[in-house]
Amino acid sequence: MSGTETSPAARHLAGRLRGDVALPGDPGWDEARSAFNLLVDQQPAAVAFPLDAGDVATAVTYAREAGLRVSCQSTGHNRGPLGELDGTLLVDMRRLDAVEVDPAARTVRAGAGVKWERVSPRLSAHGLAARHGSSPDVGIAGYSLGGGIGWLGRKHGLQANAVTAIELVTADGERVRADADHDADLFWALRGGGGNFGAVTALEFGVLAVEEVYAGALFFPFERAPEMLHTWRELIAGELPDEFTSWAKLLHFPPIPNIPESVRGQSFAIVVAAYLGPEAEGRDLLEPLRALGPVRDTFATVPPVVLGDLAMDPINPIPEQSRHALLDELSAETVDALLAAIGPDSGRGSTLTLFKLRQTGGALGREAEGAGALAHVPGTACAFAAGVVAVPQQLAEVEDTLAALEAALAPRRVGRLGNFVEQPADASGFYGEATWARLRAVKARHDPADLFAGNHRVPPAEAA
Ligand SMILES: Cc1cc2nc3c(=O)[nH]c(=O)nc-3n(C[C@H](O)[C@H](O)[C@H](O)COP(=O)(O)OP(=O)(O)OC[C@H]3O[C@@H](n4cnc5c(N)ncnc54)[C@H](O)[C@@H]3O)c2cc1C
Repeated sequence: MSGTETSPAARHLAGRLRGDVALPGDPGWDEARSAFNLLVDQQPAAVAFPLDAGDVATAVTYAREAGLRVSCQSTGHNRGPLGELDGTLLVDMRRLDAVEVDPAARTVRAGAGVKWERVSPRLSAHGLAARHGSSPDVGIAGYSLGGGIGWLGRKHGLQANAVTAIELVTADGERVRADADHDADLFWALRGGGGNFGAVTALEFGVLAVEEVYAGALFFPFERAPEMLHTWRELIAGELPDEFTSWAKLLHFPPIPNIPESVRGQSFAIVVAAYLGPEAEGRDLLEPLRALGPVRDTFATVPPVVLGDLAMDPINPIPEQSRHALLDELSAETVDALLAAIGPDSGRGSTLTLFKLRQTGGALGREAEGAGALAHVPGTACAFAAGVVAVPQQLAEVEDTLAALEAALAPRRVGRLGNFVEQPADASGFYGEATWARLRAVKARHDPADLFAGNHRVPPAEAA
């Protein structure tokens, strides 16, 4: 079936769902099918907007009976890997938006459509913080199912492994609550194996007591990227407490109105960091970088809600191409190679809007007890780069620069995290061999007909 034709089944679904269904040709069709990355142009068979878990079960059952596949999303931030979506019902969870915070038990229950921006401020008001990532706009569901690394990860591990229960609709339309004692294989696979095993309707997870953090950014002119990157590299190669997490970034703020005037159109080399400890200790840790003389220093002791905005991530949809790699070690040679690819003297100027290196290691590098499919993150740094493609003519230049950067980082690449991979990819490379085999076995047990299309595909194991 072509994705642009409306199947009779999709029309039938519209009559059965309490929520809405958008079909090709409907007035709101283009908005309903749009993704965060504006370069992604998908044509699903229909988009369902269920109101509750019962509605999700109805949508899943209809899709299965009609021979459609099902792909779930909470925000559409990582739709790029899904490809065309022909013959697929997109189930948009945005209306499953209930949030319950229990400050005494330090737990959260969130509907599958909830973004971090609805949870982090509430937690912060209680002196609590979640293991969220760099953007408040990201969905808790997709982030958690893909692993989820954030500012607290080096001390407290992956968000996926803080999840204590997941409610979902399985391929046969059953509503299931998976936890360590019930459907434990599904519970294991969902925590890092992504959206391949069912339509998640709610998640429960533990959060942490965090009253304050010493956090902020040091801005240097882009031309000083070599000094800054080498100093940062030496810093993270040394002995650092797990309470300290830092990033190095090269950022070219686009010359567009919704960027603050003070930085609009300007280029910077930036160190961003958060320290879960006293300010004096945080200052000592940052001293080698501060000694370089930043042009702007925003560090302060702040409530944890500030971590949501620390990275200055985009919150509006953008047309972008990106690449990502996990690096085993950041050697001086690697820094020189990446500077040759995208640094101030590379001749590629601001082709990429953003390049960031996140410090990993600490608890992220250790296998968590009772962990799901993503038990740890290999390497010491996580690289991500993105270039905005405002007009089609920019695409070749952005691709060429991303390729140069990838080549510079290739000798140190030890893996990739699905959350940061925004193109179709062979997901077997995200896991060790045994984990991949186990994920495929769980998929074969719970979704043998491959109904659910996760952003990164886990195919069912073939029958022995
Ligand atoms: C600005 C920005 C900053 C980011 N920062 C970080 C970061 O700091 N750390 C990090 O780890 N990641 C980060 N990411 C990556 C992010 O975690 C992934 O893009 C993630 O997949 C987004 O989840 P989502 O629910 O928002 O997106 P969606 O596109 O809605 O979902 C992504 C995938 O998750 C699965 N999924 C989502 N909801 C459901 C559901 N209800 N049931 C079943 N499957 C579902 C599906 O496979 C879906 O294709 C960032 C992304 C962006 C755009």
